[in-house]
Amino acid sequence: RSSCQESHLLIVGLGLIGGSLAAALRRSGFKGHISACDFNASEIALGIDLGVIDHGSSQLAELLDGVSMVVLAVPVLAMESVMATLAGSLHRASENVVITDVGSTKATIRDCVVRAFGEVPPSVVLGHPIAGSEKSGVAAADSTLYINHKVILTPEPNVDAGALARVEALWRATGADVLQMSVERHDQVLARTSHLPHLLAFSLVDTLARQDERLEIFRYAAGGFRDFTRIAGSDPVMWRDIFIANRDAVLSSLDDFEAGLARLRKAVESGDSDALIATFDRASHARHYFD
Ligand code: NAD
Repeated sequence: RSSCQESHLLIVGLGLIGGSLAAALRRSGFKGHISACDFNASEIALGIDLGVIDHGSSQLAELLDGVSMVVLAVPVLAMESVMATLAGSLHRASENVVITDVGSTKATIRDCVVRAFGEVPPSVVLGHPIAGSEKSGVAAADSTLYINHKVILTPEPNVDAGALARVEALWRATGADVLQMSVERHDQVLARTSHLPHLLAFSLVDTLARQDERLEIFRYAAGGFRDFTRIAGSDPVMWRDIFIANRDAVLSSLDDFEAGLARLRKAVESGDSDALIATFDRASHARHYFD
């Protein structure tokens, strides 16, 4: 596993993803300084207690001195104000500071960069680790979260090769596989593989929960439904932000899903055995991809 040579990493948003990044770097033998900014002071205190960060504050501007890389790990719609503060404070500092992020959507975050800096500076490399869970907060930080998981980087054509290599080295040190994709492709792919499945889980669990306030029927649920409730247990703020930020790609994957659901509804209604078997066969074969 390669190592990360940053002298001073600043993580903004010390939750599950930011905390796990700090923990993974510590586990890799990272020698640099790790500081964190979180507007929730208890996350900073806990991060210090857990030994994943060296110091922190709720005031971003206080933390920028001497930083070599900033990782934004706040919810997607909170990126705007963080990026604006960075742009306001950083041009006094060294040009060498690399900025990256972990947000689940990329186009709206690139828009925030452009609004804050006037362009995407060559030292900005946006990214997204394809790892996580329904948990949140630094208490759930896991130093092994990224091992053998993919991290998608979405560099712009003007990216500085050195900045890109440093962000790659950061993630490789956590045990992740790093790959690159355009911002547009990232948002379309993730709408299908992550955002749509979460939307369906939220919708299914909410539909049943609304019909039975005391959740009596949940007692009769087996593993399948439990898996849906695990996904639906994910952080509401994080997911609200994702659906607002990636609206168009989500709507287009939702259209495809609605068409498929309508076909299946018809097959159930008319007792079309062939159509049901064909659909379930295709779906169950697709499952072998993960074997
Ligand atoms: P989290 O709720 O565990 O952590 C987010 C932290 O950011 C919280 O501690 C919160 O107090 C802090 N915060 C919010 N706004 C802030 C601000 N303006 N300034 C400073 N701190 C602020 O969430 P998470 O699961 O770690 O998600 C963080 C980011 O990672 C999100 O952009 C999310 O889309 C992305 N992501 C999440 C997952 C996942 O499965 N959880 C996976 C990949 C990417």
